[in-house]
Amino acid sequence: MSQKPKLGQNFLTDRSASSRIVEALGDISEKTVVEIGPGNAAITELLAQKAHRLIAVELDRALAANLKRRFAGSQVEVIEQDILIFDLASLRDSDEKLLVIGNLPYYITSDILLHLFRYHNVISRAVLMMQREVADRVAAAPGSRDYGLLSATTQLYAQVEKLMTLPPGAFAPPPKVYSSVLRLTFATRFSELGVDADGFIAFLRQCFAQKRKTLVNNLRAAGFDAPGIARVVEASGISGQARAEAVSLEVMAGLYRGLTQG
Ligand code: SAM
Repeated sequence: MSQKPKLGQNFLTDRSASSRIVEALGDISEKTVVEIGPGNAAITELLAQKAHRLIAVELDRALAANLKRRFAGSQVEVIEQDILIFDLASLRDSDEKLLVIGNLPYYITSDILLHLFRYHNVISRAVLMMQREVADRVAAAPGSRDYGLLSATTQLYAQVEKLMTLPPGAFAPPPKVYSSVLRLTFATRFSELGVDADGFIAFLRQCFAQKRKTLVNNLRAAGFDAPGIARVVEASGISGQARAEAVSLEVMAGLYRGLTQG
């Protein structure tokens, strides 16, 4: 079968890695699992042996047709669709939350993460393979080189664990980059931080708008008034020279509350 680099088609050939990725989901015997980009079924065939119900969402028409033939008559449902417009909430048939798994098409990793966050209410856990550098950013702690808006946003929706890293040779054709697998355990932090989700995420976007600017300057550029900024920054105990990358979510939430709630 021809391979489409534009769709991020690097197929996993390391069988032991496939097993470890599936095991990282935990016991799936009673669960509904959604697989993003099943491709040639490297992960799908293992999931099919264990999951109660498996929904495999594949954009590539030829791959989806193959998968439909291969898993006909089983509990595997193959859906030919773009995962970014797939309504995950439509799959829920009880209070049981979904598990999500996927060796992601790397060109849309951030968009897929944001799509999953939109459905955070119906997902309990996700095991996702992505380019190593992106995984490092998602998992980074404040103050580290890799911390940024993607880390902050993800960590508002889920606890992040880095499980393993694979070399290019684990795939055919080999990608140019290393790949890492993350496990996201969904649990939002908005109520604990005393913030509303949409407003706080928009505020974070303003805080991280210009990487080279200090947090204070980014807040000024976003239209907050200078005395208000000085007041909340002083109350938070951070330096006026701090960049958003160095500031924890707890302190960010304090700044947001101080600037928007009076
Ligand atoms: N799961 C397979 C594996 O591990 O070998 C394939 C992984 S490959 C990195 C990514 C897969 O995602 C490809 O099969 C590709 O066709 C599919 N894909 C790309 N864009 C997609 C999209 N927007 N929605 C759903 N699947 C997509």
